Amino acid sequence: MVDGEAIENVTDHPAFAGVARSAARLFDAADDDPEMQHIDPRLGPDPVNRVYALPLTQEGLAGRRKSIAKWAELTHGFLGRTPDHVGGIFAAYDLGADVFARGGQGYADNVRRFRKRIANESLYLTYTIIPPQDDRSKIGNEHAEPKQVHVVEERDDGIVLRGAQMLGTSAAIADYVYMTCLLPLNPGDEDFAISCVVPCGAPGLRWYSRTPYAVGKPSVWDYPLSTRLDETDSLAVLDNVFVPWEDVFVYRDIDILRAQTSETEFRTYGNSQAQIRLAAKLKFLIGLAYRMVESNNVVHLPGVQEKLGEIAALAAMVEGMVHAAEANAIVIDGAYVPAARFIHAPMALQADTYPRVLNIIRDLAGAGMIQTPSSVHDFTSLETADDVARYYSGANSDAVDRVKLFKLAWDAIGSELAGRHHQYEIFYSGPPFAMKMLNAQKYGYEEATALVDGFLDTYDMDTTVMDR
Ligand SMILES: Cc1cc2nc3c(=O)[nH]c(=O)nc-3n(C[C@H](O)[C@H](O)[C@H](O)COP(=O)(O)OP(=O)(O)OC[C@H]3O[C@@H](n4cnc5c(N)ncnc54)[C@H](O)[C@@H]3O)c2cc1C
Repeated sequence: MVDGEAIENVTDHPAFAGVARSAARLFDAADDDPEMQHIDPRLGPDPVNRVYALPLTQEGLAGRRKSIAKWAELTHGFLGRTPDHVGGIFAAYDLGADVFARGGQGYADNVRRFRKRIANESLYLTYTIIPPQDDRSKIGNEHAEPKQVHVVEERDDGIVLRGAQMLGTSAAIADYVYMTCLLPLNPGDEDFAISCVVPCGAPGLRWYSRTPYAVGKPSVWDYPLSTRLDETDSLAVLDNVFVPWEDVFVYRDIDILRAQTSETEFRTYGNSQAQIRLAAKLKFLIGLAYRMVESNNVVHLPGVQEKLGEIAALAAMVEGMVHAAEANAIVIDGAYVPAARFIHAPMALQADTYPRVLNIIRDLAGAGMIQTPSSVHDFTSLETADDVARYYSGANSDAVDRVKLFKLAWDAIGSELAGRHHQYEIFYSGPPFAMKMLNAQKYGYEEATALVDGFLDTYDMDTTVMDR
């Protein structure tokens, strides 16, 4: 739903046509790249995209990372919920299928069957795993009239859901939504304790898109990211949506609902994709910053070098963490899982890292992103073309190249799309305090506390400096 109207065909609508084509290019790139394909007998005889892999070797884990990175580089990290995100989570669910089997073997079979479908059909999944924001001090039945998605009917062939759930990034162009509740529920909230997938076009499912940023832009040249990479975010509203049993993974069980994320590699697999993507995005932003200061001929100035040095350090740290997580992978039931410590550390700092990078680039840009003509038409109008060509050139570039660069920078740093990305990088995986708490749980204090205990053991009340 956009501007009060249901959209019949998203691929033709100005809000979604650009991003739909960008997403299609990802699938084409994967099909054309033998290094992104592999055969996994557990999934079937045909090659499947490595972004969905559950690697059984260290090389396989590296192959997964390289494939995710290729996709991230094609969109410069500006599509957060590419199919490798939720697709990767289902690989983790396959590994942790025993958790779902606690409700009955059928639920584990459902998870594994659906994960095979994701890989073999290259499905595009989004997820809505948080109740809509209203009174955050309450959950489930603590609300007088709960809005959160819940079961309203159980049938022989499936269940019926009603309510709303936030916030389906890329839902407009996805095949399926994975719907569950990540927030802890109370006993008595069983109707909210569901985990399932629903086709994005299922009867009764309505998607309320936020304001689309691709609409009303003068040209791709003026807003190259907004017009082509606005994945949009939508509230899911379910009006008696039927879900067949084979698409249900957790049913009315609060403990299993919590365990599906806390006792599987849900976060490691999902967030490793997120950090591989962030590394690509930060690299792109540094490239932008460098080209801007080059255009202003200030690269060599010490103050500029200091700022470039800081954002380069932040980007290199995220990139380094991706590699550290891979190099220190642990093996669970034969599957290689990136080390949680090195995935969750950059996640915990991301609410500071990303705004810091944006802030430094704003600093480096000065008003350059604002001192741009109103649109591409100023270059072609006889009334304005001469002035624009003369007064908008850079230290080493003509006006077309300079304005093109600074307009891209504005779309990455300052436009409405950029503001949404600022918010996205802070919140996409939960509020910042929760990310820091997660890191506290995942760090693993054994080594650190052993160091302290070992040191404490080296002296007692009688020890002197002469003792060895
Ligand atoms: C651009 C964007 C895209 C998103 N895409 C998706 C998506 O694809 N799928 C999806 O499921 N979700 C998505 N989300 C939603 C995301 O999961 C939530 O933003 C996140 O879980 C936080 O929930 P909230 O936004 O309601 O913030 P809140 O949880 O309300 O937090 C806001 C602030 O309130 C305070 N606060 C709230 N509760 C507490 C508490 N218990 N203790 C301490 N402080 C508290 C904190 O200061 C916090 O920073 C997206 C969000 C954004 C911004």
